[in-house]
Amino acid sequence: MDCLFCKIIAGEIPSTKVYEDDYVYCFKDIAPIAPVHDLIIPKRHISGAGEITAENSEYVAKVFEAVPKIAEIEGIDSYRIINNCGDDAGQTVKHLHFHLLGGVKMGWGKESLGKTEEK
Ligand code: AMP
Ligand code: ZN
Repeated sequence: MDCLFCKIIAGEIPSTKVYEDDYVYCFKDIAPIAPVHDLIIPKRHISGAGEITAENSEYVAKVFEAVPKIAEIEGIDSYRIINNCGDDAGQTVKHLHFHLLGGVKMGWGKESLGKTEEK
């Protein structure tokens, strides 16, 4: 399958690993927008949040079980988890992933969406 994140899991494309278990791989985002910016992905190809089912949701649960461990590794106790689903939300890699952002005081509100445009 021609999937960037499947290739990262397989070690075919290099990444900076933060955490790994049987279900989950976590690595540094190549273009960080915060002092801590990790990507947490299931080790099974799920194309996005819209493709989560009862059959594969175990992998999603494992992602969230890994979150406290990753936060401890990163030395943060406050963070934001973001999933972009679909083109309008800015999903560029079609393998389910959760951005873990931390190490900075974050704003919340419309401006936190970044640059938006009318649909
Ligand atoms: P999204 O826009 O939500 O699909 O997020 C995709 C993220 O993957 C972006 O934040 C990119 O910076 C990141 N990214 C793309 N290629 C790589 C790579 N080879 N290694 C690490 N992160 C990557
Ligand atoms: Zn994939």
